[in-house]
Amino acid sequence: MQPLATRNRRKPARPMRILLIWSIVSALLFGLAGFADPIDDMFRAIRNKAREHNASGQVAVVGIDTLAQQEIGNWPWSTQRYATMIENLSQAGARRIFFDFPMNVAQNDPDLPRLVNAMKGMNGHVHIAANFAPEAAGDTQTQVLPLPELRSVAGLVNTNIRTNGFNVAWNMPYSNTVGDRTIPSIASAITGVTGSEGQSFPIDYSIRMRSLPYFSATDVVENTASLDQLRGRDVIIGTNATGIGNRYAVPGHGPSASVFVAAIAAETLIGGAPTTYGWWVPFLVALVTCALMLRVSRTPLVLGAMGHYAWKLHRQTFDERGMVNEVSGQPNLNALRSAGHATHEGLVAARIHNYAEAATALPSAAEKELVDQIVMRLTLGNGGCKVYQGDEGIFMWMMPAASINNVGDQLAGLSAIFRSPANVSGRLIDLSIAFGVDADPGRTIQSRMSSALLACQEAQNAGEHWRVYDPTKLEATEWRVSMLGELDAAIDNGEVWVAFQPKLDLLSGEICGAEALVRWTHPEKGPINPEEFITAAERHDRIEKLTDHVLNRAVQVAAKLNANGQRFDMAVNLSPRLIGHANLKPMVIQTLRRHGLPAERLILEITETAAMSSAEAAMQELRDLRSLGLQLSIDDYGTGFSTLDYLKRCPATELKIDRSFVKMLVTSRSDRIMVNSTIELAHSLGEEVVAEGVEDSETLQLLAQMGCDKAQGYLIGRPMPFEALIDYLESHSPAKAA
Ligand code: C2E
Ligand code: CA
Ligand code: CA
Repeated sequence: MQPLATRNRRKPARPMRILLIWSIVSALLFGLAGFADPIDDMFRAIRNKAREHNASGQVAVVGIDTLAQQEIGNWPWSTQRYATMIENLSQAGARRIFFDFPMNVAQNDPDLPRLVNAMKGMNGHVHIAANFAPEAAGDTQTQVLPLPELRSVAGLVNTNIRTNGFNVAWNMPYSNTVGDRTIPSIASAITGVTGSEGQSFPIDYSIRMRSLPYFSATDVVENTASLDQLRGRDVIIGTNATGIGNRYAVPGHGPSASVFVAAIAAETLIGGAPTTYGWWVPFLVALVTCALMLRVSRTPLVLGAMGHYAWKLHRQTFDERGMVNEVSGQPNLNALRSAGHATHEGLVAARIHNYAEAATALPSAAEKELVDQIVMRLTLGNGGCKVYQGDEGIFMWMMPAASINNVGDQLAGLSAIFRSPANVSGRLIDLSIAFGVDADPGRTIQSRMSSALLACQEAQNAGEHWRVYDPTKLEATEWRVSMLGELDAAIDNGEVWVAFQPKLDLLSGEICGAEALVRWTHPEKGPINPEEFITAAERHDRIEKLTDHVLNRAVQVAAKLNANGQRFDMAVNLSPRLIGHANLKPMVIQTLRRHGLPAERLILEITETAAMSSAEAAMQELRDLRSLGLQLSIDDYGTGFSTLDYLKRCPATELKIDRSFVKMLVTSRSDRIMVNSTIELAHSLGEEVVAEGVEDSETLQLLAQMGCDKAQGYLIGRPMPFEALIDYLESHSPAKAA
């Protein structure tokens, strides 16, 4: 080998050669480590936009979406439900059925035979997922093979996908190895197109996602007529709601459920198997060219060493792929899934409900700044735990098991931190947040994440800051059945009682009435959430006795309070299910008569529902009740279906603004607009307005300024037993106050 100096003397163009060598080395580095992926991906996205075209229609998607979860129940679903879906799809003439997620069915599940039968009925045309899950530590994998009973009647598909650092799945494997079997991806199983071991093909995202025939799982479970459109098609069933199942970033679409990626991949193969030249093809071409130009014997050595280094780097970054949020760079829920695989810590979910609204109002570059501020606040209040970011304003973290006992204080503190608006690019943004906790480490991280989110949603619906997931709800059906069995007796033996929450007249400053709220203090379980047992009673047609009980007590109390010439209105909640019930009107008349209360002093609060707003019969029923002289209030106004037309037809005397709008009144401009316009609208229709959920005096003042007629909430008084109400009225009477 010659000394460098001599060689350099012989070859005059030295800077040119160094430049070339470095170009090759960096090209190799970029290629292997994926540094150029973002640029490459951007070009691909642009190319796809130009080539956009519709799907063939052979593949339809059935989504377990938000609607399905609301109407049918939270995912994961029961075996029986999967069986129903297969039966109904089979009846509708679906060609083949593919499940995009592993079904968790236990060997001793009583509904297993029904599921097996349903699959048998499809003659081997049902395919279920057999996947692997990476363990948190080490290179091992957990294999998820379905039960042998199911394997004998169904085909297997693999739904594992590899994503890049931006959570984009550009490629779909033809097959993957699970245990000792090679299992095709859904795309490969649908089309019969196969590749060699470990080979994948690029997914053609120029196929319009919107052109895929889509059905909500609700349609399938409820067997609606629209299922006819599935005749002869291949159906992929997957999750399609935030917080459940896998989601990937799809170029040009944003975060999308994995079922859509599976369907587009299948459509790609239907359109003809594509070929791909990786980054290494142009690289090799460049390398050969450069080698020819340099004609130097040592170049391959240098390149070999650099190549080895780059490969190591590539292996290292591999694990981090798909683990960060594409906008903020924050670790995402995939990262939480692998980090929390075997954790014994508590899991907290936070959701900013107006996140989408806030983010769209900002210039796109500022979204990262918004997330940074949110994460900073969360970290400040959660004791420094690492925060993971999901889609649509969802954040999660794991909390040390020891902190679970004072989780309430911590989350109340966090709520307080979020009360002041965020300042992003000079703009003040109100953030409305709620928290949900899963404290049961005995389950899979995926199921715990769903529970924490569910608790978070429940907290928000109830206007609370936070809630802990209640595992007894897991056996919801059993508990409901046994609870309902106890309810009748509980009413008779006094466990079910009525609390009264005072209402303030904003004009006179006097307490003008109360709302009756049912309570059940169970001897062993303690207080039971009224919404839970009321919903159960409604679903199983047991609401009549409960209503009768509450109405009787409320009217009895009202009669007492009106006895000495004072005016005190009593509001009672009426389940919409009772509207149109033959016994309702006689029950009201008899109760008023029994206690001698003038009908005008009774307010019936009814939440509007879709069914009610469209049915003329229901309106007639309400007019009928009104004709007794009592008052009618539209409860939870703003969350339901009230169209202007409904408001005009409904014979209500009062609108009760839902507490979700009242909660943020001082800080949220949009809520102020909503409340203001509701007040105007109600007054123009000759109706009064009550604001519920008033918790602070600033809100109360603002409501008074806006012309709201009445207010109710913790600030004025909590729901209380009759005896406490008497004391309360005593100390709040104008005589006392003066
Ligand atoms: P609702 O009619 O909207 O009742 C008001 C709910 O808000 C009550 O919850 C009350 O405790 C709570 N609340 C009152 N002030 C505040 C406040 O300042 N802040 C917050 N965050 N919450 C406040 P509760 O008692 O849990 O009742 C829940 C729901 O159950 C009621 O919502 C109503 O829809 C239903 N319900 C209660 N009693 C009956 C009943 O006797 N019959 C029927 N059909 N439904 C009932
Ligand atoms: Ca109410
Ligand atoms: Ca309400």
